[in-house]
Amino acid sequence: MNIELPRGVQDILPEDIPYWHLVENTARKLFESYNYEEIRTPIFEYTELFRKGTGETTDIVMKEMYTFTDKKGRSLTLRPEGTPGVIRAFLTNKIYNQKPVCKVYYIGPMFRYERPQAGRYRQFHQLGIEVLGRKDPYIDFEVIKLAVDLLKNLKLENLEVEINSLGCIKCRPNYREALINYFRKYEDQFSPIDKERLERNPLRLLDSKDEKLIALKDQAPQPIDYLCDECKIHFEKLQKYLSLDNIKYKLSPKLVRGLDYYTKTVFEITTTTLGSQNAVVGGGRYDNLVETYGGPSIPGLGFALGIERLIILLKQQNHISLPYIPLIFITLSEDYVEAGIKLAKILRTKYRVDMGSPQENLRTQLKWADRLGSDIVIFLTEEIVKNKLKIKNFKTGEEKYTDLNLNTILEDIETML
Ligand code: ATP
Ligand code: MG
Repeated sequence: MNIELPRGVQDILPEDIPYWHLVENTARKLFESYNYEEIRTPIFEYTELFRKGTGETTDIVMKEMYTFTDKKGRSLTLRPEGTPGVIRAFLTNKIYNQKPVCKVYYIGPMFRYERPQAGRYRQFHQLGIEVLGRKDPYIDFEVIKLAVDLLKNLKLENLEVEINSLGCIKCRPNYREALINYFRKYEDQFSPIDKERLERNPLRLLDSKDEKLIALKDQAPQPIDYLCDECKIHFEKLQKYLSLDNIKYKLSPKLVRGLDYYTKTVFEITTTTLGSQNAVVGGGRYDNLVETYGGPSIPGLGFALGIERLIILLKQQNHISLPYIPLIFITLSEDYVEAGIKLAKILRTKYRVDMGSPQENLRTQLKWADRLGSDIVIFLTEEIVKNKLKIKNFKTGEEKYTDLNLNTILEDIETML
């Protein structure tokens, strides 16, 4: 029997949950204030969806997918990223008929068969946004701003926003040709996979983690030098809006990102403190993806943020205050179970309340209270007959007898904390 944790996945234990809630709540609040609504799509989809969307020549599709066949022989894949599922839902539910613009966010697990290391797992979580139906550069700015503001609201520092433009279906072919001509000179040094990429999708070569290719990248042509007028203006406007809002960014002419569907704007937010897993957010525009899936011609864009990497950063930078609600432990004896239930009901409106077991003696219950890290212990014992209740601050040792009156009890707890 193998009950070990599978390689590359991890438990998120209760002690870490406050970080998850903080990230999720901060994101929901921010996104909703910009009129984004939540969407939840399935964990698995037909494999085709990712092959076509994410792209045949990407690392994700070539190496990283968890693909399986179901009992009817259909090929399914655990989603490696969020965008294809959101677009599929947009098409399946004909959301484009209901709204001129669809602005959504998602939070959930993604799956990639990668070599596990710090900040890289086989099940990890992303939160992301997608906008469908806007082609103007203002919205590129809004999407980048949302990622920046989310990190800012979480008080994160040492982050860098990198942007680039990849051009559109009109100007990209020229760039592609220039890139092929450049890399062809070195083709004999390439692995078979990279040779194939050179033919099918030379942009992928710029995103390679292979040392030879990284060295060649420096001299390679840059997409920004091949942009058509429309793409140029789009990119300039985006930069203007970022500057207007004092968002610092760096032009990264070689940034292409690991997915096939990007057009025009791509961006990444990286940190200097995560070692080689330094990307926290990645995103960009995908003006042809909806059409690729057989849908109407509707432009789109979005980003995805890795929650695990973000939480590693939050812990490193450790000036975040997590919400804390004091724990009140009520010791209980058989005679006062009813009084205990009533008292706990009131206290729970404000505090976390845990109860002892009426079958255990007082000493055992106090040991539990101690090990649970209780802030206050309330003794629901014989003294109740005298209409008195003992309250003890378990951290300082301070004790007090209080009248058996709910208002008085609440007041006394408040002053003792
Ligand atoms: P990397 O270059 O680190 O492999 P990526 O380009 O594959 O990242 P994206 O597909 O852009 O990543 O996903 C967006 C974000 O999701 C990343 O910036 C990162 O924070 C997170 N992420 C991606 N893959 C993993 C993983 N295997 N484990 C944990 N987080 C991940
Ligand atoms: Mg990757």
